[in-house]
Amino acid sequence: MTQVIDKDFIQSRIPSLKPQCENCFGLCCVALFFSKLDGFPEDKSSGTPCPHLDTAFRCTVYDRLEKLDLKGCISYECLGAGQQVSQITFSGKSWKAEPTAASAMFDAFLRMRQLQELRWYLMQALSYTMKAPNTELFEALQETEKITLLPCRSLLEFQLSEYRTKIFRLLSEISSRIRADMGNQFDRKTKGQKKGSDLFGKDLRKRDLRCADLRGTCLIAANLEGAELTGTDFTGADLRDTNLEGADLSQSLFLTQFQLNCAKGDTRTRLPEFLERPTHWF
Ligand code: SF4
Repeated sequence: MTQVIDKDFIQSRIPSLKPQCENCFGLCCVALFFSKLDGFPEDKSSGTPCPHLDTAFRCTVYDRLEKLDLKGCISYECLGAGQQVSQITFSGKSWKAEPTAASAMFDAFLRMRQLQELRWYLMQALSYTMKAPNTELFEALQETEKITLLPCRSLLEFQLSEYRTKIFRLLSEISSRIRADMGNQFDRKTKGQKKGSDLFGKDLRKRDLRCADLRGTCLIAANLEGAELTGTDFTGADLRDTNLEGADLSQSLFLTQFQLNCAKGDTRTRLPEFLERPTHWF
């Protein structure tokens, strides 16, 4: 591996993992299936445009999402899949301009979202291992980036689920190593929760969750106020309405912007690098 993995390397890739709605054809507001119960404006199927999407692919109620209690819209994060599909896979041609390609475009968006998520996790893992760069991780990132550039047909035919399983296995190994190292620093065992545990609504303020494995854990409405969460792995954890007020997430592992958007926090919540404080936390 000749590439230097440093902060600049990570930073240079972050913009492509953040939504750029101005370069997207409103794909999340059309391609997603959504329901009122999940905080979207109405029940709708994939491929049907939201009634609030205008002809220029802009949301007409964007400034009022909070007032309208559209939590689903506030929380959703495409991780840059929208602009990637709109501008790269489909070279700037919208589903309106090319109605026959619309269905393929929506499917490509749903797949690209999963690939962008893998890119995010791999970048995170590389940022945790900068002192001793991991060749396997770097190559996995390069491979994933290549897949995001595939033409539409190849993208739709790609064996995504097998690929995700392979990458998540690698990420899981990296996580175990990092958490063990971090745990040693403060004499903390890394046993944590059973994978996919249900901690719905639990008061966890007094539980030591440093270096815990919370991958896939249901933390809906759990209370983590003021918790120290150094080395805690949140891959795929459900953080809807989780109380993160005053929690220290600055060295937590594998958090995403979507998870933060779904949770409750405040100005005291400490965040990891490269993630932003959701505006509704203020
Ligand atoms: S309300 Fe706005 S953000 Fe939400 S789905 Fe509709 S157009 Fe998109």
